[in-house]
Amino acid sequence: MKKNNIIVIGGGYAGLRTVEKLAKNPQNEITLLDKNPYHFMQTEVYDLIANEEDFAQVTVDLFTYCIGFGGNVSFYKQDVCDIDFISKKVITPINRFSYDYLVIAVGARTRFMSNVIGLREYAYGIKALHRAMYFKQKFEMSLFKRVDDSGTSCHSLNIIIAGGGLSGVEIAAQMASFSKEFYSHNNFICRGLNIVIVNSGEHILKGIDQKLVKKSDKRLKKLDVIIKNNRKVVEVKKDSVILSDGEVMKMDFMIFAGGVEPNHLIHSLDGIDKNENGYIQTNNYLQSTNHNEVFAIGDCTTIYNDGNVVAPTADTAEQMAEVCAKNISNLMDNKEMVVHNIKSRGVLIALGRGYAVAKIFGIYFSGYLAFGMKKVVERLYAKRLDMRSHKGCTKIFCK
Ligand SMILES: Cc1cc2nc3c(=O)[nH]c(=O)nc-3n(C[C@H](O)[C@H](O)[C@H](O)COP(=O)(O)OP(=O)(O)OC[C@H]3O[C@@H](n4cnc5c(N)ncnc54)[C@H](O)[C@@H]3O)c2cc1C
Repeated sequence: MKKNNIIVIGGGYAGLRTVEKLAKNPQNEITLLDKNPYHFMQTEVYDLIANEEDFAQVTVDLFTYCIGFGGNVSFYKQDVCDIDFISKKVITPINRFSYDYLVIAVGARTRFMSNVIGLREYAYGIKALHRAMYFKQKFEMSLFKRVDDSGTSCHSLNIIIAGGGLSGVEIAAQMASFSKEFYSHNNFICRGLNIVIVNSGEHILKGIDQKLVKKSDKRLKKLDVIIKNNRKVVEVKKDSVILSDGEVMKMDFMIFAGGVEPNHLIHSLDGIDKNENGYIQTNNYLQSTNHNEVFAIGDCTTIYNDGNVVAPTADTAEQMAEVCAKNISNLMDNKEMVVHNIKSRGVLIALGRGYAVAKIFGIYFSGYLAFGMKKVVERLYAKRLDMRSHKGCTKIFCK
């Protein structure tokens, strides 16, 4: 019997969940392609940057993960540069892979706006692991430098975070919380650390429940994080930032968390429908609107529920993967596909050590309880992948 040849591009939240679901059918021959050899848990970046976790804790090896299945999943570390939708081939600099069904799950990338002078040159994105690692090291070295300078000079360390969305807020809170503990733990005298969020909207966390916004705002203030609403960064220099109201702020380093855009692959693809923002256009089955055998899920597409955009999160990406896997199976069996009804199941915002705010299935939580819930969600997710990867590892050589 002919096998179903399925290619999944992207080993992120959406891609891995699709692989897991489709691998259950031994008739499916799945090839996962990712430009990196690891799955990167972006939802835990705030802990990585603040030295609560190291890079091993926020990554899962994709080779061993794929070997951990029953033999019908293969992984290739290759950067997809094109797709020929007519001959059904995925193209990388090394291979051309044929497919019967294709799942595009390549996520999105940080949008370094070209009209902000110096942004790309002097600001850090945190969506890619290597950038997050670089920033983490710089942050730690800067804290150390304050310690080293104690007793002689004590300059303040100025960190600017552009973007008051979920990632900007979580990172600001975690860095503030970590450094407060770090300095007080050792009774260091030189403590000046200024963390500033520059946010273009009227308040932080646009689109998130107002009660959570208020609680987050209060918590950030308690951690001495300065929030500058209704302002944009218009220019970044080596050691300063110019805001839209003309204010010039000193800057030791800057994180840009001010938005995302389609990545280089989606941007360069021809022959597939895209929406007005350049993301892949999908229908209610999460299928490309002009190729029945192609699905797009996760941050590389935009979906709606009751006319509203569903926020692109890891949770949304995983829900999309489940619908996509189901619909590919239904297509193979000549059954009707299911229409998605994906909604946000909840929001969990980590705001420093031992504190989070959350709204899950309509119920509010805050403080240590919410923080514990966030940790449980993260740990369960990581555990599931780790177990698969460990299984793959023992199959080959690891002890
Ligand atoms: C700092 C931060 C904090 C966040 N916090 C939360 C949170 O608390 N909760 C939440 O639900 N969401 C959170 N998010 C959002 C969440 O991480 C994303 O929505 C989620 O990662 C989307 O999953 P995805 O599978 O679509 O894409 P990704 O997880 O980005 O995966 C895409 C994959 O595709 C690969 N890829 C890309 N291009 C190519 C190519 N050309 N060839 C081969 N491979 C390619 C990449 O290497 C990557 O492995 C956060 C994001 C950030 C940046």
